[in-house]
Amino acid sequence: MRKTGSQKPPHPTPALRGRSHATPAKRPTYVPSTQELPGITQRNLIRRLRGTRKHFLHCLKLQWPDHTFAPTLQTPVPIRGHAYLMQGYALRYSRCSPSPLLTSLTGQGAVYQHGKTLVMIYTPYLALFGIFLAHSRAEVVNTFDGPGFPTCANVAQILYPQSIEEVVSIVKNASATNTPVRALGGGHSWYNTSCSDDPRTIVFKTEYLNRISNLDMNAGTVDIEGGVTFLQLADWLHARNASIGYTLVNWNITIAGAIAMGAHRSSLREDSMVAAAAEALDIVNGKGELVHLTKDMTSDTWLAATTSLGLLGAIVKIKFKVRPDFKVYADQKILDEQDVMNGDIYGMISKYATANLWWWPGLKKFHYRYYDEISINDPGRSLQNTFSVSSFEASTATLLLEGGTSQAWLNSLAEKTFFAVWSLPNFRDNTTQLPILTWPTTGFAYPVLIGGLYPDQKPEWEMNLHGYTLELAFPVTIANKVLQRIRQLFDESEAQGFPMTSTYRSGINLKFGKAFPDLLSQVTLTDEADWSKGVMMYDHPSYRPKNGIRYNEPFYHNLAKTLISEFPCRPHWTKNSREVLNLVKEHGRVDAGHLQRFEAVRAQFDPQRIFKSVVGETFGM
Ligand SMILES: Cc1cc2nc3c(=O)[nH]c(=O)nc-3n(C[C@H](O)[C@H](O)[C@H](O)COP(=O)(O)OP(=O)(O)OC[C@H]3O[C@@H](n4cnc5c(N)ncnc54)[C@H](O)[C@@H]3O)c2cc1C
Repeated sequence: MRKTGSQKPPHPTPALRGRSHATPAKRPTYVPSTQELPGITQRNLIRRLRGTRKHFLHCLKLQWPDHTFAPTLQTPVPIRGHAYLMQGYALRYSRCSPSPLLTSLTGQGAVYQHGKTLVMIYTPYLALFGIFLAHSRAEVVNTFDGPGFPTCANVAQILYPQSIEEVVSIVKNASATNTPVRALGGGHSWYNTSCSDDPRTIVFKTEYLNRISNLDMNAGTVDIEGGVTFLQLADWLHARNASIGYTLVNWNITIAGAIAMGAHRSSLREDSMVAAAAEALDIVNGKGELVHLTKDMTSDTWLAATTSLGLLGAIVKIKFKVRPDFKVYADQKILDEQDVMNGDIYGMISKYATANLWWWPGLKKFHYRYYDEISINDPGRSLQNTFSVSSFEASTATLLLEGGTSQAWLNSLAEKTFFAVWSLPNFRDNTTQLPILTWPTTGFAYPVLIGGLYPDQKPEWEMNLHGYTLELAFPVTIANKVLQRIRQLFDESEAQGFPMTSTYRSGINLKFGKAFPDLLSQVTLTDEADWSKGVMMYDHPSYRPKNGIRYNEPFYHNLAKTLISEFPCRPHWTKNSREVLNLVKEHGRVDAGHLQRFEAVRAQFDPQRIFKSVVGETFGM
């Protein structure tokens, strides 16, 4: 067996168009905390930081005279005790050693460089911090947003197994010592909920478990390992005239990570939850045993495994449904808000293979996007761009949205701009790379349904555009009521002098999901409401300003609270903050009977509960 260490193996990952940012960082770790800081007012702190900044910039200029540095002080973000994060400084230079380095000391404090971010240490705590550094062995795993956005903020070790046997051995060791453990894929959770907060946690990343084999077009299946991503599989299948179909998600995410967390595309007509395409799952359970499960919709074990939240163990292999390659068209219309609010939403969505709505609340408009199948012989080779932006777009958006944190008219201008851009096809011709200017557009299924990055652009989060989101699923039968209630909240906010707009480049996303009767997915069936026709997922991304505080911040918290307290709903398991997950728990929105049945399966798979996460712990699992 090859050596398994916390260092990444030297050989490169397979060529992918998307990038993962979940690189292992070195000491120290930090735990975001909103606790108030005794004896230090924000103004005092900023004064101290200004003194430090002056000295710090001076030091930098001496060391790197040919570089320019950020002229403004970013609002410090409290992290742990009296340490503050100042994001933004270090992004302007690139010659720093990646190893931890005390960059500057002054009478008022110290600036600690951690990767691309700087940490301010208030002097009286410097000695203690030094001791902490000397003894801390904690590591950080970031979300797709990169440094400063931890998905697991405080873990003991990050491992990179290269075979299923290595996973078995890691879990056996963890089990023998009762150590928390977690499998991680591409890091596409939005919040710090992937691991437990226990600093003994060991995580292992699945990126080297990336083999694809046994394509069997008669059975309509292919075997993939736990680290295979959607883009990787789509490319591999396309080269063999095969396709994933509609059970996919919007980005370069691992299929196992999507199955674990119940991820989905948008369809009421077709199965579109990724787990619906699993025909068999190999899981390394909490005892370090490799368990093989085959699809059986009458077995609680299968129903638990299809949205396991990673609590049964690590999914290391999947027999995944595929179909012959096919082509689709994409078309889009603009609708007035009233046409959706009072319309037959189920009828609008269910007639297409996949469809969704994007809401622009300031403009009172929707984009209505729908896709369906055409002949494989039809012309067209379009590629959709879901997340890539040019530098010009990124800097314009940043300018407007940062200003919009205090000036509503800038948010309104941003929404109008985003709406205008999103009204045009976000597609290029995949052979000529020329933009496609008119709807509808056509092409092979995966590049049209999901697409990828334009080769000359980067995803928005690499251009410093970060977001928060909230995603809740409601029975589609009450979709109109839910949207009308949200409109009421928008109107109330405007009446109080705070008009609300979408601060995300594609608006507020309304996705839809056909029912899939497992235990913990967003689209499962329970008795308290009519979920049989499927769900509407309200996915509300919003711009995350540099200081972390949005325009009319209380609105977002009130929105979540109102929706969760007033309507039957289910959370997306990776797109909600701890606060939202707690609200869901508090209002009993996850069916108690389903939780109990899940727990019974978990007791067999992981009796010591070593596969822990904040998501599971919030719901008592
Ligand atoms: C840009 C972007 C687009 C997205 N689009 C969609 C979308 O269209 N639809 C949708 O539903 N969601 C979407 N998501 C959310 C995404 O599908 C989920 O967060 C998914 O779980 C991420 O998988 P990952 O491979 O990145 O895993 P990670 O983020 O690394 O892990 C997510 C969770 O899954 C667990 N996990 C990962 N791998 C395994 C494994 N092999 N075995 C057991 N547990 C595992 C982890 O422990 C963790 O709790 C999107 C997220 C982003 C950032």
